[in-house]
Amino acid sequence: MAKLYFNYATMNAGKTTMLLQASYNYRERGMTTMLFVAGHYRKGDTGLISSRIGLEAEAEIFRDGDDLYARVAEHHEHTTVHCIFVDEAQFLEEEQVWQLARIADRLNIPVMCYGLRTDFQGKLFSGSRALLAIADDLREVRTICRCGRKATMVVRLGPDGKVAKQGEQVAIGKDVYVSLCRQHWEEEMGRAAPDDFIGFARN
Ligand SMILES: [Zn+2]
Repeated sequence: MAKLYFNYATMNAGKTTMLLQASYNYRERGMTTMLFVAGHYRKGDTGLISSRIGLEAEAEIFRDGDDLYARVAEHHEHTTVHCIFVDEAQFLEEEQVWQLARIADRLNIPVMCYGLRTDFQGKLFSGSRALLAIADDLREVRTICRCGRKATMVVRLGPDGKVAKQGEQVAIGKDVYVSLCRQHWEEEMGRAAPDDFIGFARN
């Protein structure tokens, strides 16, 4: 049986590169993949998924209220689809995550989702919450904090270069995100006093 996968991480962990590489592997074998990406920052019906190391591919846009099961089922009727890839999966609605589960269960097509687990305030995104709840297979894509520990959190830097402590979950415009371990995230957010020993030898 096909499965619903959720590959989650913080920002800049290489999720998109993994997605594009995996899709390429299918296509290289003559198989068909469908790629989806969130429409939050995009206009039109197609979007480009591009990774920091230069890979890119065209993808369909998903927006709130879209029926992803119907779109895949229709495509699958005339062209057999071998795998579905969803980038920015944190922006999926809960109902859309269930639609993806049905694609795996009823159409027997594996669905690979890639996205952030939590926002800059340490709260789960809607899509991530649903995926963590019902995906068959959860995989953490690792990246590291400046101190070398695993980064599990993200802070958002505003235009002034300062860490945003409040605001909308989805920022309008180009903010910069930095991945941190939980301890340094709490320090950057002003929730815990900085520990001078972090990253240095302790005597
Ligand atoms: Zn750290």
